[in-house]
Amino acid sequence: MAGWTTFVRANDAAGVAGGDPDLVAAAAARAAGTSVPDSRRAVAGPLPLLLPPNPVHRFYRGGDGIDRLRGVAAGEGPGAPEDWVGSTTTSLGNDREGLALLADGRLLRDLIAADPIGYLGAEHVSRWGTNPGVLVKLLDAGERLAAHYHPGRAFARTQLGSPFGKTEAWIILSAEPGAHMHLGLREAIDRSLIERWVREQDSDQMLAALNVVPVVAGDVLFVPAGTIHTIGAGITLVELQEPTDMSVVLEWQRYKVTGGEETLNLGWDRVLDAAELGAGVPFRGPAPATETGASSRRLLPEAADPYFRAEHVAANGPDVTFAPGYSVLIALEGELSITCEGQAPLRLTAGQSALIPYGAGTTTLDGHGSGIRCLPPAADSGEGKW
Ligand SMILES: [Zn+2]
Repeated sequence: MAGWTTFVRANDAAGVAGGDPDLVAAAAARAAGTSVPDSRRAVAGPLPLLLPPNPVHRFYRGGDGIDRLRGVAAGEGPGAPEDWVGSTTTSLGNDREGLALLADGRLLRDLIAADPIGYLGAEHVSRWGTNPGVLVKLLDAGERLAAHYHPGRAFARTQLGSPFGKTEAWIILSAEPGAHMHLGLREAIDRSLIERWVREQDSDQMLAALNVVPVVAGDVLFVPAGTIHTIGAGITLVELQEPTDMSVVLEWQRYKVTGGEETLNLGWDRVLDAAELGAGVPFRGPAPATETGASSRRLLPEAADPYFRAEHVAANGPDVTFAPGYSVLIALEGELSITCEGQAPLRLTAGQSALIPYGAGTTTLDGHGSGIRCLPPAADSGEGKW
């Protein structure tokens, strides 16, 4: 509850507009990822924070899509295929990699642990504890990813000691002509067939059994745990997923994922129980809003609500208002400003991201541009199917 006891109301918006030194200093501190106690804060909880880049290297190559989004020349970025945006999740087998660092060197995970209700809200904390329940990534596939799948919650609970599986969703930011995913089986298969794939490592056979899903910028795909999939080369996307790093890599040989990591150290016999062997029908979501006015538009189906939620937001006129809630906002184009009552705005340019804590209260988005707002599971959404 730290942070909630220092509430002092001060509707000193004129101070912000006029460059009040205290508020300007506080805004600068937030832009640098630090928070400064401000005796005239109008909101009770923690304030929105800029999230510095958080590159994570993986077993596959990245491209220049994340650099392009950020306006960085090709080759001058960190060269990692993924950026874990506002992450409180570690990569598999590591105790630090993956965790988002703020500009002052503190871990976002620690900030949330010190003030879970301020960051996440009481309803979320009563269900999920100090875990935000969602991991957001920027991902740029410079090569096709291995055919793989992720365990669902029931399997993760009993076999891996995790309340979360890894259902995921993709919001496509850019795709080279002809770029495509493989997503879900075209027809149901017998277990003996997937056992043969694992043994023989015949990539052509595996891929031929999967739906080919061409993608363009603006497409949204929902990927329930268990669904066998690949991400094709030349695709940059925002990925929302449950906060784990658990992948079962069917094409382990070609991508050199070995030593037990390919099966999450469970062995094939056990881990194949988590694969969906029925035919999969890919969910394809709505394209982002194209209206010129301010808008905020849901991107994922209701079936995704127990896992995460996402909105396309556009600011080109009247302000967009967000109800109090933990969210990660990624700016895609233009310049976005996030304001909570009595505070100078936090500005984002394309490729920059902010964490908006629950305790920041009602926040307003303005500026000229668009972004993706990523939210945790809906508190009232029930258990989820996967
Ligand atoms: Zn995946």
